[in-house]
Amino acid sequence: MTKRSDTGNTACAYRRAGTDPVHGIWGLKRLTEREREVLLLLGTGLGNRELARELGIAERTVKAHVARIVEKLGQQTRLQAAVLSVLAHDALCADPRCPRRHAVPPAALLRPSAA
Ligand SMILES: [Zn+2]
Repeated sequence: MTKRSDTGNTACAYRRAGTDPVHGIWGLKRLTEREREVLLLLGTGLGNRELARELGIAERTVKAHVARIVEKLGQQTRLQAAVLSVLAHDALCADPRCPRRHAVPPAALLRPSAA
């Protein structure tokens, strides 16, 4: 295991882990419309039961959708797929009035203030 002092404070965790969730974004093209809908909901952090209720389908069908989505996106876990969902929100969401569209402020505004 690498000690934090070996890598410095600026070494990105994605780089250290040798993975970046954004690579899976290209897998979005392989998803069906229904799978895109499930993926968008997955980004809300809801569990399978809530997803099933929201989609009006059985929980086992949700599990099957999620498994296929994780595979098509080249991810290992549903959490990784959920991270991708958040990153790809604007490509997945068809609601023109969605308040989440372009809601993430520029990175410079999210850094801790020097004060
Ligand atoms: Zn939206």
